[in-house]
Amino acid sequence: MSKKLVIATRNTGKIVEFRRILDAFSVGAIELIGIDQFPDLVDVEEVGSTFEENALLKARYTATMTGLPAISDDSGLCVDALGGWPGIFSARWAGQHGNDEANCVKVLEELKGVGDENRGAHFICIAALVMPDGREKVAEGRFDGTILHRAIGDQGFGYDPIFQPLGMSISSAQLSAEEKDAVSHRGKSLRAITPHVIEMLGGLR
Ligand code: IMP
Repeated sequence: MSKKLVIATRNTGKIVEFRRILDAFSVGAIELIGIDQFPDLVDVEEVGSTFEENALLKARYTATMTGLPAISDDSGLCVDALGGWPGIFSARWAGQHGNDEANCVKVLEELKGVGDENRGAHFICIAALVMPDGREKVAEGRFDGTILHRAIGDQGFGYDPIFQPLGMSISSAQLSAEEKDAVSHRGKSLRAITPHVIEMLGGLR
C-alpha cells in the first residue's frame, strides 16, 4: 500500500468520523495515518478568522512537516440567537479547550428563556486537503437544526447532546454513527472532498 494520507487532527471524535467516512470511499486503497505517528508535530494555533483559514493552516503545516498529503477540518456550531457564535470558537467556548460538557452547559444557559422558534442553529465543517507540492482543495458541509433545552444522548461528541437535527425529534447524540455521517456537516464536507483526494493521490490503484 503506497498511497498515504495524514489526518491532521488530534480530536479522537473527529478521527473516528474521518476514518469511517474516508474508508467507505477509498475501499482501503489509501492508508490513513494519524498525526500521533509524527511525534515532532506541534498543535497548530487556530489563529484564522474563518473555518476555511483554520482548516488550511492545519493541513498546510502537516503536509509541509510530513512531506505527505494531509487532510484536516475546521468545524463549529453557529447559533442564530447568539449572532452565529460560538462559530470558530466552538471548541473553547466555555474557556477550556475541548471541555464538551462545559461548552454545552454554557450554550444552554445563554439560551435560557429563548423560545423554540428562536433556537435555530447549524454546524459548519470545512474540509481541507493540502498536497506536499502546494496544491489545495476545500469543501464545505452544513448541518441544520435547533438547540434543545437540555442535553440528551451519549453518542457523538461536542454539542451533539444539545443539537436536534432539522426534521428529527432526537438529538444528534442519539443518532448512530452511520445516521450522523449521512446528514452531518463533516459527512457532507468529507464526501465532497473525497473525489479530489482520490484524484490528487492518483486514483485508487
Ligand atoms: P475544531 O477542532 O476547531 O474544528 O473544533 C470543533 C468544535 O466544534 C468541537 O470541539 C465541538 O465542540 C464542535 N463540533 C464540531 N463538529 C461537531 C459535531 O459533529 N458534533 C458536535 N460538536 C461538534
